[in-house]
Amino acid sequence: MTGRTRATFLVAAFLLVLQFVAVPFASAQQRIPIVRDAEIEALVRDYARPVLRAAGLGKTGVDIVLVNDAGFNAFVAGRRIFINTGALMTAETPNEIIGVLAHEAGHLAGGHQERLRAQIARARTMAVVSTLLGIGASVGGALTDNGGLARSGGGIALAGAELARRGLLGYQRTEESSADRLALTYLERTGQSARGMLKTFERFASALALTGSRVDPYQISHPMPRERIANLKTLAEKSPHFNKQDPASLQLRHDLMRAKIAAHTSGPAATARLFRANPRSLGALYGDAINTHLRGRPRDALAKVDALIAKQPNNAYFHELRGDVLIRANQPGPAAKAYARARKLDGSKSSIIQISYGRALLAAGDEKSTREAVRQISQALDRDRENPDGYMLLGQAQGRLGNIGEAELASAEMHYYAGSYDQARIFAARAQQKLKRGSPAWVRAQDIINAKPPGRK
Ligand SMILES: [Zn+2]
Repeated sequence: MTGRTRATFLVAAFLLVLQFVAVPFASAQQRIPIVRDAEIEALVRDYARPVLRAAGLGKTGVDIVLVNDAGFNAFVAGRRIFINTGALMTAETPNEIIGVLAHEAGHLAGGHQERLRAQIARARTMAVVSTLLGIGASVGGALTDNGGLARSGGGIALAGAELARRGLLGYQRTEESSADRLALTYLERTGQSARGMLKTFERFASALALTGSRVDPYQISHPMPRERIANLKTLAEKSPHFNKQDPASLQLRHDLMRAKIAAHTSGPAATARLFRANPRSLGALYGDAINTHLRGRPRDALAKVDALIAKQPNNAYFHELRGDVLIRANQPGPAAKAYARARKLDGSKSSIIQISYGRALLAAGDEKSTREAVRQISQALDRDRENPDGYMLLGQAQGRLGNIGEAELASAEMHYYAGSYDQARIFAARAQQKLKRGSPAWVRAQDIINAKPPGRK
């Protein structure tokens, strides 16, 4: 396999299994590669919740936006936390990510880069968020006059995707020390150590990082002079919690997450390298099972997943993986059972698992299963609309039941959340011709027709 075909294969596998919401924007330069995953989103939410609450930002739920990028980056805007898969894979402990989130919460509470952040926060869909960032980067309009974006991009205009890889928000040195101090307060209030935050920043501040071939986006947006790190160290070490470790259960979930990201983005060798010290650990076995699922025979993958389930029968994500393996093996009935079990065990009530359940029901093909698929997928989308993939499945299911108006509306929603507003309006108008005037579905179609596309006044 050549490097290029291999890369294509890996990307394809990632799209398939992590349900890549390939938010298809008008142009490639506005694309932020987002991935959805129930396990990782729930874990990052659990990392963020205590520190956000300590920062007085925890009133509403937060959406975790996983950016599929190997570089280290994380930022908070409104009720969205953007974090690169690369950051999650780099961090050896939960505390390293929690520390970075505490620091980001500090920027948020301190009102740094407020204008850009507020615009991102107001945006109703991820498609709009990306468009905002794309516009800000390419035309140098209102968003750049605070100097932040321009500085974060080294003073040159950047395409959206490049911007996403680099620092999205550029901070000043005074803002950095203020965010550091606030982060220490939040960590103190939640009884956690600042060691992880310090470790991450020390890595960025070291001479090694500066001469390395890759400069992480986080480093570009957060200036890391040695003096700042030295101050942070002195303060962090004063805390009675400095030597406190993450709970073992949280560390295990962290290891499982790293295994999953490594398997999806880097393959078997990289996954094995992560667990070199503990090749029989649960994380190593999970990574091996996922790698086999993505690249090996379903029968072998199933045996490995069942071994995991024997070790942790109540792990929702092991059952979810079992469903994924069975879907790939073209066994929708048993897959639906596995997803149903995963759904029951999933404390975070993720829409992603529920939509997978609906997908398996739809694949089963009979009318009863198709009706149940519509019910499950609709429920999931009511909680979490940001899922073009779910709308696509809903459209297929409604079409199969002969509900053409509802199918057209689902297509309209899919295009709307993907940012294709012209297409969305066309499907919404078609839906209205089939739907009862004034019904909830008809009204929703009208909302889509009336929606103002971002960037137009
Ligand atoms: Zn910072």
